[in-house]
Amino acid sequence: MSQPATAGRRDQIATNLATVRERIATACADAGREPSDVQLVVVTKFFPASDVRVLADLGVTDVGENRHQEAEAKAAECADLGLRWHFIGGLQSNKAAAVAAYADVVESVDRLKLVAPLERGAERRERAVEVLLQVSLDPPGAQGRAGAEPGDLAALAAAVAESDNLRLRGLMAVAPLGADPAAAFARLAAIQRDFLADHPDATWLSAGMSGDLEHAIRAGATHVRVGSAVLGSRPQVK
Ligand SMILES: *Cc1c(COP(=O)(O)O)cnc(C)c1O
Repeated sequence: MSQPATAGRRDQIATNLATVRERIATACADAGREPSDVQLVVVTKFFPASDVRVLADLGVTDVGENRHQEAEAKAAECADLGLRWHFIGGLQSNKAAAVAAYADVVESVDRLKLVAPLERGAERRERAVEVLLQVSLDPPGAQGRAGAEPGDLAALAAAVAESDNLRLRGLMAVAPLGADPAAAFARLAAIQRDFLADHPDATWLSAGMSGDLEHAIRAGATHVRVGSAVLGSRPQVK
């Protein structure tokens, strides 16, 4: 077990969290939406389990991680907290079953190859895993892009929907670096409209991070994934 967080660290997280909750409330008010329509997922990657404990104590219910080994260890260390764990990172098919063993929500499903191992992992755990399809908002051919092409969503959605232990909940996206987030999220909203025509119950839309959550909420995000605005800046190395 790691050392508990210091009182100073706890105060810092509490202050940051209050600021982020206020930003969400303001963005919802501006968009004519209810704050209860937007779920805050605090992204805890790079930060210790002791910070996760502080977050749980401050009323956070959902946390996000993007690297399998780190996520697996932290989820195990924090198993007593009853948190919902979101996996939001690039997923390798040979790790997908292991991710489904602890993740309650897998937000980064972007290709067909992931569906069978996720289903296997969820079945072994005897608990359904909630799935979001990650859609790319990058221009075609962009470097290092993550996410399915909008045109590939239908087949991916069908495969998830047919899996006994996976629940298709909706879409996830990241605004492209350096691009106008308002335009990117407007594109996402249009993609979601088409998607909902086929999957009307898959209403979750995970979009928005520390720097652009207001734009995402305006475009209909139901989940925002916020890391640095709550926990501070991360080391630059990936
Ligand atoms: C790290 C990460 C976030 C959080 O980013 P911040 O800018 O720190 O809020 C959100 N979504 C994904 C997919 C991430 O990898």
